[in-house]
Amino acid sequence: MYPLLLVRYGELSLKGRNRRVFEDLLINNIRANISDLPHGGITKTFGRIYLETEGNWEELAARLQRVFGIVSISPVLRRELDLEAIQEGAALVTQDTPGQTFKVEARRPNKNFPLSSPELAKTLGGHLLRSFSHLKVDVHNPDFVVNVEVRSEGAFIYSKVLPCLGGLPAGSSGKGLLLLSGGIDSPVAGFLSMKRGVDVEGLHFHSYPFTSEQSKEKVVQLAQLLAPYNARGRFRLWIAHFTEIQKALQKGSYPSLNITLMRRFMLRIAAQLAQREGALALITGDSLGQVASQTMESIHTINAVTSMPVFRPLIGMDKQEIVEISRRIDTYDTSILPYDDCCTVFVPKNPATRPTIAQVERVEAELDVEGLIEEALAKTELVELRPNSFA
Ligand code: ATP
Ligand code: MG
Repeated sequence: MYPLLLVRYGELSLKGRNRRVFEDLLINNIRANISDLPHGGITKTFGRIYLETEGNWEELAARLQRVFGIVSISPVLRRELDLEAIQEGAALVTQDTPGQTFKVEARRPNKNFPLSSPELAKTLGGHLLRSFSHLKVDVHNPDFVVNVEVRSEGAFIYSKVLPCLGGLPAGSSGKGLLLLSGGIDSPVAGFLSMKRGVDVEGLHFHSYPFTSEQSKEKVVQLAQLLAPYNARGRFRLWIAHFTEIQKALQKGSYPSLNITLMRRFMLRIAAQLAQREGALALITGDSLGQVASQTMESIHTINAVTSMPVFRPLIGMDKQEIVEISRRIDTYDTSILPYDDCCTVFVPKNPATRPTIAQVERVEAELDVEGLIEEALAKTELVELRPNSFA
């Protein structure tokens, strides 16, 4: 029924002269998410974006609800500039919106229309009251607002407002590299970074043959689920082979430090890959105190291997809050599939909760740290995901 979707975006307007760049990014991200659906194109006028539908507004709206930077959307009816046509349209929109009380808001950018905005609002209000006996006007706190905009290209009429994700368009802040495990947390950390404009790439450490092909597929699937939220609806996932490093650590005589050592290797490899690919920050799914490797002492000792910023968007969240987001973004069911992660296979019986930099450096002195990192980087593969490309 609605030929148009009105797309509202928020914080973009705060960005002064960068605004155009932001709008273009947002439009690109929208385009990427609807490329497989029929639609009539996107137009940008006066700080708003309109998307022409092809009788499929609900399907298109669902896709827009995954694009960061959009605050809300409204399906819009269009009528010619004729009072009777506008009344009929306003009645249709009203019929399609739940609620008992309403008001009409009219705007008239097109001053050629014979009625002023207040006159039009009053006339339409009267018409709606006569047409629907259950409705009452409430100008202060209405259940819904019937909006009418009289423009040169026609009258735009709408009342539904569908809330969206907000945030900044993914890609507007720069590139970041997410350490993506198969767990619940790191996909959520990636999602929240995208929310603040990061174009996220992923890095997963895989320990084939100690971990299965399925555990890798699971991470590819998580990356696929994150792609729609990301810049241009794409997600580049790097898969690094961690097996040789794990084997080298297994031989060491301080198994309680192994998790800390593994994490230090991961962060070093990630920092080098980030530098190579032009990412300015690393992102992890750490939440303070959740497990032994996420105590303040552990994080301090792990973080010491890089001077690159490490974003930890979940640091202050309880597990339940993280789970709620992962359910909302649909990664939860994939995250809980029971395939081994490289760290669960090699997890020591008593991981150190207060590892110091001096302790781990003593162990690392016996390892060919640079050689192991170089080898892992050389073997890193790239998987590129796009929205809706997963069979
Ligand atoms: P997650 O649910 O994200 O796996 P977790 O609570 O299981 O987190 P850890 O296993 O201690 O916590 O991992 C902490 C962080 O280290 C993860 O959020 C992720 O960013 C990174 N990480 C762990 N394992 C891997 C891996 N195999 N590949 C890439 N990053 C990893
Ligand atoms: Mg994990």
